[in-house]
Amino acid sequence: MAAPRPACKCGYDRDHLMVSREPRYGVWKGFWVMFMGVSMLPYRVDFRCRVCLQVFDATTDPAVMKDTM
Ligand SMILES: [Zn+2]
Repeated sequence: MAAPRPACKCGYDRDHLMVSREPRYGVWKGFWVMFMGVSMLPYRVDFRCRVCLQVFDATTDPAVMKDTM
């Protein structure tokens, strides 16, 4: 049986409609992505609930992070 996935206090998990994916870049990568419009793989993706604004989960799995690009 799979371990329960992390969820915020509203009970939403990372695939919920009200949860946004926030890619995190290092300082230099962030510069290129934000100012140059370059598409890069983030070093981490945070999952934040849009209702309670809680970051309750994060991933460094490249397969998941690709979806955020
Ligand atoms: Zn929430």
